[in-house]
Amino acid sequence: MSASVIDKATRLKLAIQKSGRLTDHSTDLLMRCGLKFSRGKDQLVGFGENMPLDLLFVRDDDIPDLVEEDVCDLGLVGLNVIEEKRLEMAARGHATRFEVLRSLDFGRCRLSIAVPDDAAWTGPESLRGKRVATTYPFLLGNYLRTHGIDAEVVTLSGAVEIAPRLGRADAICDLVSTGSTLIANRLREVETVLQSNAVLVRTPLELPADKMAWVERLLMRIDGVQQVRESKYIMLHAPRSALPAIRKLLPGSESPTIIPLEGNPDKVAVHAVCRENVFWETLESLKAAGASALLVLPVEKMLA
Ligand code: ATP
Ligand code: ZN
Repeated sequence: MSASVIDKATRLKLAIQKSGRLTDHSTDLLMRCGLKFSRGKDQLVGFGENMPLDLLFVRDDDIPDLVEEDVCDLGLVGLNVIEEKRLEMAARGHATRFEVLRSLDFGRCRLSIAVPDDAAWTGPESLRGKRVATTYPFLLGNYLRTHGIDAEVVTLSGAVEIAPRLGRADAICDLVSTGSTLIANRLREVETVLQSNAVLVRTPLELPADKMAWVERLLMRIDGVQQVRESKYIMLHAPRSALPAIRKLLPGSESPTIIPLEGNPDKVAVHAVCRENVFWETLESLKAAGASALLVLPVEKMLA
């Protein structure tokens, strides 16, 4: 049996974007999940040193196919790319075979319709008979169909935002996060076609038990990492009488731990995990409610 056959049987392969907006977030997530990897000479493969998991660095557009065709077991990619692929396959009469395992807290953006600043907009019907440029023809086509709009989809491979100025389109359908690119191109965002973020997808094929066990472990760690990112551990002292007010102020916390304070029967220490960020305003409100000795600590790991 060749080495690659053995590898395929025992090591998970996870496709991530080689170079782009998702790359750093993806490797950061995996490293927070405990993965140590070294990159081969060709930089295409990252070998997991402490987990039976290897990374394949590829263009994001190739990730759905790699997972769908079972070249990789898992993939980290934008929901926008996954949904476009799903619709493309459906148009060809095929059902997609990958499964979204987790929605991740990075790569947030939206696929939006934008029109030139000075163009009139009364709703999706304003697109009737117009040309709309996009790199997402299937998502746009689906949106137009849903709204019963007959418009021309102009499929481009990039630089969609300059299409109206070049006279190639009357509107665009493109990814937006801050909106600054639209403003720079004198375009106005008018409709959201799809809200997106990065997702973890898996192959439709059944995985052997040992591989599946690692997928489960990875998922549990991803959940832990995502919970922890926003979470804070908060400690404070409070008069017993202020406890009801203070509990209401603790953001996203379950039952806090109440600890008596030696030599001070009226006061207690309160410790709580807050599953939301703790802002200065919250601390000020807690202080106003009677809390003192406030301490907010980052949470490093969490396992439910
Ligand atoms: P590749 O060379 O891998 O094909 P790309 O140019 O297609 O890269 P990027 O621009 O790096 O892709 O974007 C990758 C993903 O990042 C997008 O598919 C989307 O899910 C997400 N994303 C988040 N914010 C934005 C944004 N403002 N514009 C574009 N993509 C965004
Ligand atoms: Zn791409």
